[in-house]
Amino acid sequence: AEREIHFFFPQLEDTLAVIKPDGMEQHREEIMEEIRAGGFSILEQKEEVLSREMAEEFYREHRDKPFYHQLVDFMCRGPCLMLVLTKENAVEEWRAMMGPTDPDEARQTAPESLRARFARDVLENAVHGSSNRQHAQQKIDFIFGEIAAENEDGDEDRELALLP
Ligand code: UDP
Repeated sequence: AEREIHFFFPQLEDTLAVIKPDGMEQHREEIMEEIRAGGFSILEQKEEVLSREMAEEFYREHRDKPFYHQLVDFMCRGPCLMLVLTKENAVEEWRAMMGPTDPDEARQTAPESLRARFARDVLENAVHGSSNRQHAQQKIDFIFGEIAAENEDGDEDRELALLP
């Protein structure tokens, strides 16, 4: 589903960001502050404890990895904050702000990144971000549903008002 905002500003790109349960426990406000300072607009926002089924589906592509069950347990341990962020080049920029998956590596190669500063370990690493445009759209649709239906009531005015 395409948003009205992308009709007027075709250069904008959406990505799905998630503040994971560990990030929510200790660093929620700092992470939100970084997102705003990074110039992202927040098109959608939802705080939710994921069901096991949701978490399993969300990380489906990792289902054969040795860390999959731990990852699913972790993701439904407490509330997550799910966000649709929009900006030019949002997918790549949000990944850069997050830093590498493993905080030990992040502290070496990207000491300013969110994971370098806030991750506990390779599992509890504070944030999620889509790795490409196609994944972003799939995960946004999965978490927030098809937006076209919800947008019938003129939601696009609210979206436009959110731009920096
Ligand atoms: N993960 C883990 N152990 C690993 C690799 C990944 O527990 O060795 C977890 C971690 O929470 C990571 C998530 O699985 O964020 C998804 O892994 P992916 O390789 O997609 O990393 P990301 O895209 O989140 O950097």
